[in-house]
Amino acid sequence: MEIFPISLKLQQQPCLIVGGGHIAYRKAVLLQQAGAIIHVVAPEIDANLLELVHKSAGQYVQQPFAALHLDFPYRLVIAATNVADVNQSVFLLCEQRNLLVNSVDDIPNCRFMMPAIIDRSPLVISVASNGASPVLSRQLRTQIETLVPQQMGALADFSGQWRSRVKEKIINPDQRRVFWEDIYASPLKEQVFLGNLETANEMMLQALADWTLPKGEVYLVGAGPGDPELLTLKALRLMQQADVVIYDRLVSTPILNLCRRDATKIYVGKARSNHSVPQQDINALLVEYAQQGKRVCRLKGGDPFIFGRGGEEIQELFAAGVPFQVVPGITAASGCSAYAGIPLTHRDYAQSVRFLTGHLKAGSPELPWQELVYENQTLVLYMGLVGLEHICQKLIQHGQRADMPVALISKGTTPEQKVVVGTLSDISTKVTEHQIHAPTLTIIGEVVRLREQLKWR
Ligand code: SAH
Repeated sequence: MEIFPISLKLQQQPCLIVGGGHIAYRKAVLLQQAGAIIHVVAPEIDANLLELVHKSAGQYVQQPFAALHLDFPYRLVIAATNVADVNQSVFLLCEQRNLLVNSVDDIPNCRFMMPAIIDRSPLVISVASNGASPVLSRQLRTQIETLVPQQMGALADFSGQWRSRVKEKIINPDQRRVFWEDIYASPLKEQVFLGNLETANEMMLQALADWTLPKGEVYLVGAGPGDPELLTLKALRLMQQADVVIYDRLVSTPILNLCRRDATKIYVGKARSNHSVPQQDINALLVEYAQQGKRVCRLKGGDPFIFGRGGEEIQELFAAGVPFQVVPGITAASGCSAYAGIPLTHRDYAQSVRFLTGHLKAGSPELPWQELVYENQTLVLYMGLVGLEHICQKLIQHGQRADMPVALISKGTTPEQKVVVGTLSDISTKVTEHQIHAPTLTIIGEVVRLREQLKWR
């Protein structure tokens, strides 16, 4: 993070603007909205700026800027002259004095920047880009303006008035947060938006009187194959309200970043043949947190019910009487095939598709090879990189054509996605020629040929 956003209380705080023209005026308007006392140093001053200075009980010093003007302990200084050298010397002198300083439209000479502002006071949203693109910041501002109802400030005010009473009644901060989230999801919010504060206050009293200890719950959420935009709306909502997030190796960092920031995040990732947290311990963790009254998001790559052990986890929850929800995700087969331009079915080439695991539990039966050798069937192999050569050989031994097309997709749907295309006879050699990283998915079937035409990224 190159810049650090803070929210500054400027009421009754002395601030200095150097410059008396329209640039200075624009900044003075913002400072005035924040309740600052505005002082101006400039040889000349616009009448409307002078009026703001007087209104805010500040002073106008009619002089060219000089170091002595910084002798007063201002909270912040804005250099808003139209002479770059003057702005720069204001900046340098302020830096010597550790005074917060902004030079208008001159990022190198700024200690702080003025963000684009969405004002729903007391709620204030600011957007800053460290000068990289003020246009983008403003565009984002416009988007946010349309997303946040005007009355959001009233809701923040309303909440502020109830805050200490809620705190008295619900001591535990996690439980308090759940209470507020429930309030914001209830019809009370609309009453505040409509200005029916009396009704809203009654509803709030009732909600506090009815409040009981929350029950824990587990959300078993499929996070999709990697691209965060492939999350479902429900996944995102539950990720943002969970108190604890227990996640796998397959859950990408951009997806994890969408979880609630202050949630406890626990990594239980498993690399192949390196089970860092045994499945029983994961199950036990889920039960334990839920029994503490927490909302636990068990976040898994792809879909939780496709080679995801989701079934095993909820069996345990069921046995312990813990309530749960399951949110399906886009499984790797769908995500990778779509992003590689390989339709899994196609009227001309494949009327069925079969998902298989290449990583079999020790002692479990081999794959049903005979059933896999069909002309018009697509095979999708999860966890198959290590066993790839063996699997290709077996398919050929059982009568599959050696030139049957095969695609191997690594890190599908992410910016690092790689696709290697070959046939049953040469795919293993081709894979060793490329730098391939897990996770990888293999697609076997005539549909692979369509990639040549349908490849789109
Ligand atoms: N539940 C998951 C699968 C978990 S098994 C799902 O529905 O997708 C793990 C296997 O999924 C990996 O070995 C790999 O074969 C596949 N996989 C998951 N994400 C992938 C990705 N982004 N690219 C390629 N393969 C992926």
